[in-house]
Amino acid sequence: ADLRGLLLSRIRDVPDYPQPGVVFKDITPLLADPAAFGALTGALAELCVRHRADKVVGLEARGFILAAPAAARAGLGFVPVRKAGKLPGVTHRQAYELEYGTAEIEVLGDAFVPGERVLVIDDVLATGGTAEASLELIRRAGAEVAGLAVLMELGFLGGRARLAPALDGAPLEAL
Ligand code: IMP
Repeated sequence: ADLRGLLLSRIRDVPDYPQPGVVFKDITPLLADPAAFGALTGALAELCVRHRADKVVGLEARGFILAAPAAARAGLGFVPVRKAGKLPGVTHRQAYELEYGTAEIEVLGDAFVPGERVLVIDDVLATGGTAEASLELIRRAGAEVAGLAVLMELGFLGGRARLAPALDGAPLEAL
């Protein structure tokens, strides 16, 4: 019944990873626990229905692990948003700022039927930079953003406020 408590109990804090002063949220205990993993993918599948998604996008790499089973459970197709250089053929590409330097993500040019509604899934929302770039990329690829769903939001980093313009009224769900 208490999904939030179950999920939180299976996320591990790793101090000073990947660098000193950062507390990394490690979701591998959750993935390894069938009750927690099943509850999570079930809840994500319900969000697909609630927000009337036609397709599910996962963000490389941990987003894939959550989005693919959620899509399958909801009876929807899955589309990967990948780091640049991994997808075959014509792609849309979006650059975004990292703490040091920039990164680029891509989606295949024919991934979406114009106007179809997409639920975007990732594991952790931190500063919101990755999600912001993904929402822009997906719209440029012709889809409509039905919402963004994450397992965990690190509220103290302000990602939700940063994402407001990119969400443009679409819901942000943090389980
Ligand atoms: P943002 O772009 O700063 O919001 O960072 C979010 C991206 O970095 C997501 O794709 C996450 O997978 C990853 N990330 C950031 N912090 C953590 C963490 O503590 N645990 C797991 N992934 C994280």
